[in-house]
Amino acid sequence: MPVIREWTESLWGTASPYIHFRPVAGAPPSLPDDQRIKVRMPNTAEKQLLHQRDGFHCRFCGIPVIRAEVRQAIKKVYPEALPWGTKNPEQHAAFQAMWLQYDHLLPHARGGTNDLENVIITCAPCNYGRWNKTVEEVGVRDPRTREPVRSTWDGLERFLQ
Ligand SMILES: [Zn+2]
Repeated sequence: MPVIREWTESLWGTASPYIHFRPVAGAPPSLPDDQRIKVRMPNTAEKQLLHQRDGFHCRFCGIPVIRAEVRQAIKKVYPEALPWGTKNPEQHAAFQAMWLQYDHLLPHARGGTNDLENVIITCAPCNYGRWNKTVEEVGVRDPRTREPVRSTWDGLERFLQ
């Protein structure tokens, strides 16, 4: 559906009409690569804890999300229904928008760690749309101040069973 792709592009594109960054006094600077935390992503056990805590909804916007591993399992069974190339236009628009991310609230580039308090589950447009900015610089409320969305949505995890 083109409208889903247009929505994603409107959020993570460099010309997004919705996302405007603002300077914040005292915000942590962007660090050179050699000063960033070496292990960038949470490990498998940490990811499972995040799934339990956050469920399978974006902590920013609340849409349902699907892990890459689940998408790959579905693609194996339905390769023609779920195209996933290397470029954005070659990827299934809905699975792209619903792509589960492990998003660092204090961005990795700004010194953010894999501490579970610093990592939340988000959708790809919210993660990539924020670039390496803090929630204050984006001007959104810290998602940790509200409860995760709870629903019967299971992230299609049953495809891995
Ligand atoms: Zn989102």
